[in-house]
Amino acid sequence: VEVDAALRLRTLVMDLVVSHAEQLAELNADLARSNEELDAFAYVASHDLKEPLRGIHKYAHHLLEEARAAGGLGAQAEERLQTLLRLTVRMDGLLDALLHFSRVGRLELAREPIPFSEIIHEAVEMLGARMLGEDVEIRILEPMPTITCDRVQVREVLSNLLGNAIKYNEAVQKRVEVGCLDVPPPSAPAEVAGQRTFFVRDNGIGIAPKHQQQIFRMFKRLHGRAAFGGGTGAGLAIASKLVERHGGKMWLESTPGEGTTFHFTLGPEAAR
Ligand code: ADP
Repeated sequence: VEVDAALRLRTLVMDLVVSHAEQLAELNADLARSNEELDAFAYVASHDLKEPLRGIHKYAHHLLEEARAAGGLGAQAEERLQTLLRLTVRMDGLLDALLHFSRVGRLELAREPIPFSEIIHEAVEMLGARMLGEDVEIRILEPMPTITCDRVQVREVLSNLLGNAIKYNEAVQKRVEVGCLDVPPPSAPAEVAGQRTFFVRDNGIGIAPKHQQQIFRMFKRLHGRAAFGGGTGAGLAIASKLVERHGGKMWLESTPGEGTTFHFTLGPEAAR
């Protein structure tokens, strides 16, 4: 009787596990579908909004020119029109960022084996102009592995992190280190266990603990519009999405006033 009861219990438990797994698979498929729809929506919305915005900008510009030709506007009206023009340019930048963000979600990965140091050098080159006149030291901690990833996308992740490391930095001698760890550091989330981890460390202004999660949100900035050279607040949202497209994860460790380390993995496939 006992053996019989145990066998029945086993069948019951197995049925339960199978039905849960099926439910989970269905939920995952739903989630993937709604993510795709959201990306498609963001794409269409940002694309279609650019057209009327272009019209607003054009007419505000004509209005300003015509008023100037007819003897000028009052100082206040002139300033208001200038502000209108500035705002349309800013909104156009935000829409471009949103378009790019939604494209990232739909890009196919072109994985190929690449020496990681090659991608770092390319990313540093892309920053070239931004570093002019700055005292910046970028150290690449060798040895760097060869990894299987999408060159263009990983280069964008790195140029974003390197750019931020220099931008949010008030040290007289700005120092940035790029390195690779064979196993994730203790700060890593559980899901990246066993994945190779890359990091970009700076001696910049740091990020307070309460902001450390928020900065990965689209358009989230921690400073005034013009502070630290400005920006749209899209860079980290895009960079972490690119990392997630690879099956990886991005997180950070930071001490305000001392510096920040951004870590990221590129999924189990990257190690091959
Ligand atoms: P943006 O640079 O356009 O504002 P990001 O998404 O790249 O957008 O960054 C979001 C915010 O995170 C920045 O406004 C800044 O406050 C903060 N941040 C990003 N990187 C760093 C860093 N290395 N050190 C300190 N703060 C940073």
